[in-house]
Order: sequence, then C-alpha cells, then structure tokens
Amino acid sequence: MAMTNPFGHIRFGLSAVTLGQLPPDTGAEVAFVGRSNAGKSSAINAITGRRALARTSKTPGRTTAINVYFIDDEHRLVDLPGFGYARVSQTMQRQWQHLLARYLQARVSLRGLVLVVDIRRGLTAHDTELLGWCHESQVSAHVLLNKCDKLKRSDSSAAGKQVEQTLGKLAPSASVQLFSALRYEGVAEARRRLARWLAISAATQKKAPANKGREPGA
Ligand code: GDP
Repeated sequence: MAMTNPFGHIRFGLSAVTLGQLPPDTGAEVAFVGRSNAGKSSAINAITGRRALARTSKTPGRTTAINVYFIDDEHRLVDLPGFGYARVSQTMQRQWQHLLARYLQARVSLRGLVLVVDIRRGLTAHDTELLGWCHESQVSAHVLLNKCDKLKRSDSSAAGKQVEQTLGKLAPSASVQLFSALRYEGVAEARRRLARWLAISAATQKKAPANKGREPGA
C-alpha cells in the first residue's frame, strides 16, 4: 500500500496567540493537541516526514502559541499549545482550556483533532474533557497512543483496547491507534486519517483511500 507523503511541501506559516490571529477560516485544517511531553512535536514531524518542522523538547510553559503550518493554500496543520502541564499556573491552564474550547466550537475549517497521548499514561482527565468537547462540537477526534515502543506489544494493544472502551462511552465517533514517533510506527495510518479529513488524498495518494485496511487498536 504505497502512499506518497501528502505533506511533502508543508511549511511553517505563522504563530498566533489569539484566535483572531489565525489565518482566514477557509479551506480545511487538522489540529494537533496533547499534554506537554506526550510527543506532539515528534508526531507532527513523523507524520509530515519533516524532521524539524515542529520543535521538540521545548521549554514547558513557553509553548503557548498556536503554530500553523501550510500544506498548500487551502490546507493546514495547526499545532495547538500543550495543555494540562502541571508547572504552569492554574490561570494559564484555564486560559488555554478556554482558547481550545472556543477554537473547537468556532473554527469552521477544522476537520478533525489529533490528540497525542503517552501510551504509558493513557487518557488524563484533561484528555477526556477535551474529547467530550469534540463530541459536543461535532469535531472528529483521533487519538495517537504515542511511545508504544516503550511497551510490550501485548501491553500496547491492551492500552489501545482500554482507550477504545473509554471512547465508546465518551465520544463514540472518535478513533484510536497505536503510534511511535520514534519508530515511525502508525505513520501511514495517521497520514491516511489526515488525508481523508482534509480531502487531499485523491490528489496526493497513489492508491484510493477506500482500500485502507484495518485500524490498529481495534
Ligand atoms: P511535546 O512536548 O508533546 O511536543 O513532545 P516532544 O515531541 O518534544 O517529545 C517529548 C519527549 O518524548 C522527547 O524526548 C522525545 O524524544 C520523546 N518521544 C517522542 N515521541 C516518542 C516515541 O514515540 N517514543 C519514545 N520512546 N520517545 C518519544
């Protein structure tokens, strides 16, 4: 199932600290979110195939900007600030949550949210709250259980099943997959998901996306 990288020409666009600074709300975008250190930057780099697109290992608490990457004129990836990090003030955390909630509710071009989770931690209270908002706002969500290279395969699939059960109750339309940014595991599946959401698959994929195979973690 060879697939060209639909993100081959992605480039950094802009950083925004308010929703008003985002690019015009047209076309289609997919947003990434996750607790600091879950591996969100590494996941973006792995999926786009660009080693240094999103910076890794940034100083916690200083990554409060929304970084926007342009795939082309009509399609974007949006890197939302890390959330739920214990070392920032409660006020700041509340501000982030407020920003996220407004973004999810208001952004018309948002096609889906990728939630990056450290598989060893599983879903945190923040994660489940966020998935609940997605469900309420009818935003599709996809969970990457990252760092699966850190667990035995049987433990990874058990973690996947557990998250699936939680999603079933919380956000039935959401999906989950095992992922390792380090080993590039799950990259093809994540790319297919994003390409589908962004409707960029037909133009950029060699094979039709209908023949997508199984969903790991299922
Ligand atoms: P972010 O804060 O969520 O953007 O996380 P980073 O991408 O900066 O990653 C945080 C740390 O986790 C870094 O030390 C990464 O090298 C490491 N990391 C990220 N993804 C993986 C993975 O799939 N496996 C392992 N073992 N480590 C990872």
